[in-house]
Amino acid sequence: KQAQYAALRDEPAICKSGERIELNINAGLIVDLPHVHDSGADGVGLYRTELQFMMASRFPRLSQQIRHYEAIIEQAQGKPVTFRTLDIGADKILPYLRQPKEENPALGWRSIRMALDRPALLRLQLRALMMAAEGQPMKIMFPMIADIDEYRRAIEVVEIEKAHLLKRGHRLPAPLKLGAMIEIPSLLWQLDHLLPLVDFASIGSNDLVQFLFASDRGNPKLAGRYDPLSPAALGAMRLIVEKAAEHGKPVTLCGELGGRPLEAMGLIGVGLNSISMVPSAIGPVKAMLRTLDRQKLWKFMEPLLKSPLHTLRPELLEFAQRNGV
Ligand code: PEP
Ligand code: MG
Repeated sequence: KQAQYAALRDEPAICKSGERIELNINAGLIVDLPHVHDSGADGVGLYRTELQFMMASRFPRLSQQIRHYEAIIEQAQGKPVTFRTLDIGADKILPYLRQPKEENPALGWRSIRMALDRPALLRLQLRALMMAAEGQPMKIMFPMIADIDEYRRAIEVVEIEKAHLLKRGHRLPAPLKLGAMIEIPSLLWQLDHLLPLVDFASIGSNDLVQFLFASDRGNPKLAGRYDPLSPAALGAMRLIVEKAAEHGKPVTLCGELGGRPLEAMGLIGVGLNSISMVPSAIGPVKAMLRTLDRQKLWKFMEPLLKSPLHTLRPELLEFAQRNGV
């Protein structure tokens, strides 16, 4: 199997029915970057910038942040990297940041909420990201957006930093693409307002599924209780895909879900053309999709998405076996 996956490295990720699927890796450390190349991925779909902050003993200075981002861009060797701004809180703790004790940290003062309340931190990070990519393409996305206003405010901070950099004689990244993560269910009813404002969107399926089912993503007692391959979760993904197509905006998925072949099949089935995953999953997912007739899968899935089934897992497994996927 390993040899088979390695042999696929330079083969295109094209479904049997002809659609090219973009396969990216999730990363958070400089040592992850060689995997973009050895896995044959298209790029880095999610770079979790908080890792650098979590391993430091104080907030990394501007120069340290710039060096870090420059190293990532350099090692990507021209493949696109989507940087996510700091996503601190809940499962991601900074030892040197005193945070108020909260009853429900996953639902608390975290991530973009904290960033908008402490704009100096966000500004510094945006400055570092843009300085690391002067004159080069750069993609930045914001985590845990719950309403349109939060995205608007985040973009305003980018504009302030752009003006700051220009005034000091820096060149801006070109093109600079900005996006929102869709990982809080409230956005499902705001897509017509959100999508016109973004250059791209990225589904954070770990949190989206956690919040859809009100089910802690890290609690072993709940693992497997609700299924991302349920009509509810897949229906949410399908809605996002449809709305993004209507608005002509690219959408990708960057939760860990994309890294399991059957799950990835379901995601491609609902129309996703771009998924990001652990590097070790690129080979297995590519092998899966090269045998997949996506049209046929969608015809099979569409009525099931309206069913009251707990999960479509057995149905998808049966489809895969019957069709040699
Ligand atoms: C997600 O929620 O799916 C995601 C990609 O972000 P993280 O796992 O870092 O919360
Ligand atoms: Mg998340």
